[in-house]
Amino acid sequence: MRIRVDREKCTGHGRCYTLAPQVYQPDDEGSCIIPNEQVSAERSEVARRGALNCPEDAIEIFEE
Ligand code: SF4
Repeated sequence: MRIRVDREKCTGHGRCYTLAPQVYQPDDEGSCIIPNEQVSAERSEVARRGALNCPEDAIEIFEE
């Protein structure tokens, strides 16, 4: 699975990296960055949790 954040949509609520810090990280301004867009099977559940809780719908999931 692969994930991607739309930086235009992200407004820095921080819910993704609060709920799923294994996958999402904050940048200096509190917006989301994804250090590794390729997500292992073990982390897919937590990645999904972060994405589904983004109020801006800024995180896209690509099932592969
Ligand atoms: S929850 Fe959504 S809006 Fe908030 S930091 Fe994460 S990607 Fe950005």
